[in-house]
Amino acid sequence: MRVSRLMLVTLRDDPAEAEIPSHKLLLRAGYIRRIGSGIYAYLPLLWRVLQKISAIVREELNATGALETLLPQLQPAELWQRSGRWAGYTAGEGIMFHLEDRQGRELGLGPTHEEVITALAADLLRSYRQLPVNLYQIQTKFRDEIRPRFGLMRGREFIMKDAYSFHADEACLKQTYAAMDQAYRRIFSRCGLRAVAVEADSGAIGGSASQEFMVTADAGEDLILASGDGRYAANQERAVSLPPEVAALPGGARGAGLGEPLATPGQSAIEALCSAHGFEPGHTVKVLLLLARFEDGCLQPLLVSLRGDQQLNEVKLANAVSARCSGEHGTLLDVVPLTAEAAGKEGLAPIPFGFMGPHLEDAVLADARSWQPRFLRLADATATALESFVCGANSLDTHLVGASWGALCPAPESLDLRAAQPGDRCLHDPAQQLQASRGIEVGHIFQLGRKYSAALEATFTTEAGQEEPLWMGCYGIGVSRLAQAAVEQHHDANGICWPTAIAPYEVIVVIANVADAPQRELGEELYGAFQAAGIDVLLDDRSERAGVKFKDADLLGIPWRVVVGRGAADGQVELVQRASGERQDLASAEVLPQLLGQLERERAGLALA
Ligand code: ATP
Ligand code: MG
Repeated sequence: MRVSRLMLVTLRDDPAEAEIPSHKLLLRAGYIRRIGSGIYAYLPLLWRVLQKISAIVREELNATGALETLLPQLQPAELWQRSGRWAGYTAGEGIMFHLEDRQGRELGLGPTHEEVITALAADLLRSYRQLPVNLYQIQTKFRDEIRPRFGLMRGREFIMKDAYSFHADEACLKQTYAAMDQAYRRIFSRCGLRAVAVEADSGAIGGSASQEFMVTADAGEDLILASGDGRYAANQERAVSLPPEVAALPGGARGAGLGEPLATPGQSAIEALCSAHGFEPGHTVKVLLLLARFEDGCLQPLLVSLRGDQQLNEVKLANAVSARCSGEHGTLLDVVPLTAEAAGKEGLAPIPFGFMGPHLEDAVLADARSWQPRFLRLADATATALESFVCGANSLDTHLVGASWGALCPAPESLDLRAAQPGDRCLHDPAQQLQASRGIEVGHIFQLGRKYSAALEATFTTEAGQEEPLWMGCYGIGVSRLAQAAVEQHHDANGICWPTAIAPYEVIVVIANVADAPQRELGEELYGAFQAAGIDVLLDDRSERAGVKFKDADLLGIPWRVVVGRGAADGQVELVQRASGERQDLASAEVLPQLLGQLERERAGLALA
């Protein structure tokens, strides 16, 4: 391809709309253009990158025996109602774009395809003899993200590879899950990415085990917690750890476990309370009030107790609340802090925020108009483990010192609700500590179990003649996000440094001065020879100054550059490696064999990795 025909518009300055390096570079180098919030055009250069990634994905998945297919993006609401996800995906913070057709039928634009594929499986899979099968597609997905940002990282329209497997039993599902895990590792490594697998929360997709693949990068939105010995890594949403130990509260239980009142004027924050009275945050029980909203309209107040030095993990809380209430009230739509303002609007008497204890009575909800009149009481195990503690007295400017569970109030159900933190000791080996790093989620694999097949009646006949729901797995890769993640991991001050396997072109031939006949002729000759040898080559034949073309070549990030300049008359050219900046003067006849050797070595290196 000739740069003069590429519609290439590069920008010298960083566009105001971009915050992170990869987003700036993709815009500046003419790979993408923004069309609307979270909506991007993939320009021809990026389309080549996406096709190269897709080709690697196809090769690796086909090698596992998976079959490519293409499913509709317009999905009938009825399928999502049967799986129980329509409300969760369309109301509240739901991310599905949905619409009504001219006959008044509701449709959603596919954010994911469990429902569609399970309906097909119900239709097509009848017998254990047809199992297992694994189907995948590479397709545009739509998600009305609350905060689209960082370009392709979080778009509202993006390209995903999604695969769905069906099995006669759980053991077979686990086998395919393991095979997909291996295929994913090969895919990311062949794309030139450093990616790590981490334990993950299954989120709205559901199911039991799930694992994410993270490209490590400072700009990543996810926090990864991993042990130094490499044996444990998890997304913070999911991570578990041993909490820091705290010494017992001096003086132990007081007032027969009811605690002694202490005047704490204005000390509503734990820090202020502790510094005024010499407590440690870990001596206190803090109480959080939240409100959970469900599909059926139920508004359930939550009272969550945590040890004062711990932070709430909102994902763990949402999972715990769903597990307890969704059977009766449907999907959990959201959990928000219960504020004084909201309590006032609901008609409640003032609640002593900042001075609450776990013994706050349901009576405070007595005047509620639309909320459930009883708290769902949950506690993190760090709080219930305290023998005696400091907590709010449920009246302003007063705390209780030396309260105990049982005497003060029954200990709530004890769960893991705390956010694991960097520096925490690991469960598998307390000598190991969790270390933090940031990651970009490029893939996610799930063991779904029988959630969707049971809901959509996708059953098969077992060898013993029984009718049972199919076992399912699902496996996603964010293809367009991956392309940008590669830039986030591979760039320098001058531009992108694409890994060769996914670069739009492998080589760029730059004719320094197209007005010079020997340069132009040698440039054209090399371009033709490279093409004939099967190399993906760009020819910069523009009548720009050489300096502009070199800058653009750096910005574009093509792995190899051949400069045809003044030496052309003597048959001399320069070969430059983009990532290392290494330069080599060569006779023009040596360039092609040299390049073929380099490209071959790069492929072989990847095959070994
Ligand atoms: P996230 O937590 O980042 O919102 P997710 O867990 O909802 O993602 P999955 O349902 O697991 O995403 O989708 C599979 C893959 O699709 C993700 O691993 C990610 O790489 C990609 N992906 C998800 N949402 C987006 C998006 N809005 N823009 C680009 N890629 C996305
Ligand atoms: Mg995910």
